[in-house]
Amino acid sequence: MSKKLRIFVTGGAGYIGSHVVKALGEKGYDVLTCDNLSTGNEWAVLCGKLIIGDLADKDALSKAIQDFRPDVVMHFAASIVVPESVKDPLKYYRNNTVNTINLLDVMKEGAVSRFIFSSTAAVYGIPENIPVSEDAPMNPINPYGTSKMMTELFLKDIAFANSDFRYVSLRYFNVAGADAQSRIGQAYKESTHLITRALKTAKREFDKLQIFGTDYPTPDGTCIRDYIHVDDLAEAHLLALQYLTDGGKSNVFNCGYGHGYSVREVVDAAKKVTGIDFNVEEIGRRQGDPHALVADSSKIKQRLNWHPKYDDLEYIIKTAWEWEKINPVANPR
Ligand code: UDP
Repeated sequence: MSKKLRIFVTGGAGYIGSHVVKALGEKGYDVLTCDNLSTGNEWAVLCGKLIIGDLADKDALSKAIQDFRPDVVMHFAASIVVPESVKDPLKYYRNNTVNTINLLDVMKEGAVSRFIFSSTAAVYGIPENIPVSEDAPMNPINPYGTSKMMTELFLKDIAFANSDFRYVSLRYFNVAGADAQSRIGQAYKESTHLITRALKTAKREFDKLQIFGTDYPTPDGTCIRDYIHVDDLAEAHLLALQYLTDGGKSNVFNCGYGHGYSVREVVDAAKKVTGIDFNVEEIGRRQGDPHALVADSSKIKQRLNWHPKYDDLEYIIKTAWEWEKINPVANPR
């Protein structure tokens, strides 16, 4: 890298953000993380500096951007729990939509015109075709997905209005796993994601794992998801960054492996990896869950030359398990 690019990372103390910050630091970028530590952790920021701040505080955000003068902003900070978004939609529109407008405003003031956005497969809702490609309609079925879709719509309009502004939206499928050296991983005070819940059940933090819905139109009746290792996702961000700095046009890419596993398959793999036969209870459907979400990932593979290294459910679960055993964030029920 000739010039040391400066990258401003919101939510860099969180799960995905911290893995990207690690990857950016290892590649020699100059990184500044901004995080309100609501779900992130100071110790998770392995590279660069951290400022503790909330995107709702526009003055502080503006000062941070003016002082750091980033070349690119990567925006991870968001609320991400689907069932919570169904119960408290305003939280999601405030944290994910309104705060992103603040960030984009401040970027405009500071003449920062490169943006990488953490979007989600939840923007697709219940896709007509599986695997789902980027040109499928956005039709979210929960407020989390809607809050992210709204940002994607703004970004398109902003890029149309201002030819200097270029962005990449990365639509994440189900991100899981942890750093190979177990330095960082998922560390939420309350975890709702399947793999983490399964591992915490194996650890006896919960007495049973509940399977939400066994009557979906899938081969074993449980929902299918495309689980992607967080370090492969981090690499996708570095490639998106390279793409934008090489002059690439605004674009949207799916981040998934292109095949999925059912809830039951994940539970079986978690039992195998941990060697623990934890209790499972089958209950009714959870609100807001599409029956299958699998990425067509051909675009990112072709256009960004993304070669995922960890497309292996057992490896994903193994790294998550190694991390979970030492995860410092207690998670009693
Ligand atoms: N799930 C489950 N039990 C749990 C957590 C999740 O059966 O304790 C199911 C959930 O209904 C969905 C899949 O596992 O079908 C993945 O859910 P997760 O919350 O991990 O990710 P999402 O796809 O909602 O982003």
